[in-house]
Amino acid sequence: MGDEKVKNEAMEIMGLFQVLPRLIVFDLDYTIWPFYWLTIFVKVKESKYQKMGDEKVKNEAMEIMGLFQVLPRLIVFDLDYTIWPFYCECRSKREMPSLYPHARGILYALKDKGVDVAVASRSPTADIANTYLDKLGIKSMFVAKEIFSSWTHKTDHFQRINQRTGVPYNAMLFFDDEDRNIETVSKMGVTSILVRNGVNLAALREGLSKFSQNLAKIDRNKQKWLKFSQKPGSSERDKE
Ligand SMILES: [Mg+2]
Repeated sequence: MGDEKVKNEAMEIMGLFQVLPRLIVFDLDYTIWPFYWLTIFVKVKESKYQKMGDEKVKNEAMEIMGLFQVLPRLIVFDLDYTIWPFYCECRSKREMPSLYPHARGILYALKDKGVDVAVASRSPTADIANTYLDKLGIKSMFVAKEIFSSWTHKTDHFQRINQRTGVPYNAMLFFDDEDRNIETVSKMGVTSILVRNGVNLAALREGLSKFSQNLAKIDRNKQKWLKFSQKPGSSERDKE
């Protein structure tokens, strides 16, 4: 109906002029349609590659995990600039978010290997974060989701995750893009990895090898302590 009305008014407008152009030439993008055609084309192509990539990333992540004898019981991810390339507080719930290119493949591999995953985010907009996790189809993968703003650098997030899951800090691996969170959370005993361009296969490999090193360190210390406590003369009781 609108089209017809516009057409009639256009006819009227043209009726006001004695001479009309013989030819009217139109641009396309943002002249006859409200977008750049190329942007849409590239987006469609990218999402196709993304789909193909997920399976490949997953397989590589499985291979990387196969290199390690012991895996973390729980891997905790930050959200903004760790699994997706934006602050979700700056976006609208209506938008369709996208993950960093390796994030989905890594999550799928962890699920296959039986490694639990959780979220620790200081985002002030938990509703947007949850909507995005839902839209991305990964919300149900997380055994715990702690999303709230706080002045501590995620110590309270990890205390809650520990209470909820019962997983000790030294059996967890954590990925985040902020130095201060990494510093604070590693002091709790969690192996923590700083990511610079989002979580990817290189970060996964780095995380798993640092996790193994930390476990070996704990083991060595335990053995040292055992040897020490078994030495004659090392305690009052042994002297008697
Ligand atoms: Mg972040």
